[in-house]
Amino acid sequence: MRERVGIGIDVGGTNVKFGLVQGRRVLFQSSFPTAGSLTPKALDQAMVNAVHLLIRRSKEPVAGVGVGIPGLVKVPQGIVLSCANLVNWKNVPLKGNLKRRLRLPVEVENDVNAMTLAEWKFGAGQGVSNLVCLTLGTGVGGGLIINGRLYRGWNGSAGEVGHMPLGEKGSPCSCGGIACLERTVGNREILAWVRRRLRAGEKSRILELAGGNPAKIIPPMIDEACRLGDRLARETWSRVGTQIGLVLTGVVNLLNPERIVIGGGISKAGRWLFEPMRRTVRERAMRGPGKVSIVPAQLGSSAGLIGAALVGFGEGCTSFRRTK
Ligand SMILES: [Zn+2]
Repeated sequence: MRERVGIGIDVGGTNVKFGLVQGRRVLFQSSFPTAGSLTPKALDQAMVNAVHLLIRRSKEPVAGVGVGIPGLVKVPQGIVLSCANLVNWKNVPLKGNLKRRLRLPVEVENDVNAMTLAEWKFGAGQGVSNLVCLTLGTGVGGGLIINGRLYRGWNGSAGEVGHMPLGEKGSPCSCGGIACLERTVGNREILAWVRRRLRAGEKSRILELAGGNPAKIIPPMIDEACRLGDRLARETWSRVGTQIGLVLTGVVNLLNPERIVIGGGISKAGRWLFEPMRRTVRERAMRGPGKVSIVPAQLGSSAGLIGAALVGFGEGCTSFRRTK
């Protein structure tokens, strides 16, 4: 059977990406700036324009529109309760607004839940019914598939693995908590840790790769330095992998997932990050749940669009059985 064509809209911190999606393929995509000061009304209009543009480009009828929002969404009503990047977005009935103007099926979902659906249906999570998906970036997001369906918790915020605390004391977090995983393994915190070590006089290839300027360091330079055998670089990913592994130990003991999929920018660090993560879970988790496999995500930066399009088909609202 030919797969339907849908539209995915992925609202990010800097850009709103939108694309025409068929199965796991993004047929066409473009974006417009998010500009956090815009009102919900202006963003509604920009999304409607984007959808019209995509409908014009599509050779086939569009079956639905899905929107991934980096915030708390009331599903299935499609009300955006709050959104990290868009401070004006409080209780916005986005699904209703778009549906009225587009006359197409519309669904709205948390962006990491959408990515989780994408990796589950088309990526590294295929074939299992119990899955945890983690995205590592500026923020650390998580999504859960439990018994073959997306698990949202009672009011839609389940899966926030990045906001599990690592201790009693530590840095305050944007979520209102203290010492969250994100405060140690978010991109900014990783780079700040590396810079502190360099300031303390540690020698590292990372600094050479950044042309001697600590402000220019980005995570791929740490990966490159790892390959060159750099001690600080390897210690960086080992520390990050261990901290994530500790939290995942709790997650696997609690949920007993078959697979954990790790995506987002720093997951590109590969074995330097994955080995300490896997080792920590193997050593610390209970024997049964510890048999989980921890694998990199497969869909890369397209996961958001592919997942949003899946949401538009109503995949997030129903349990769809996986065939092995
Ligand atoms: Zn937090």
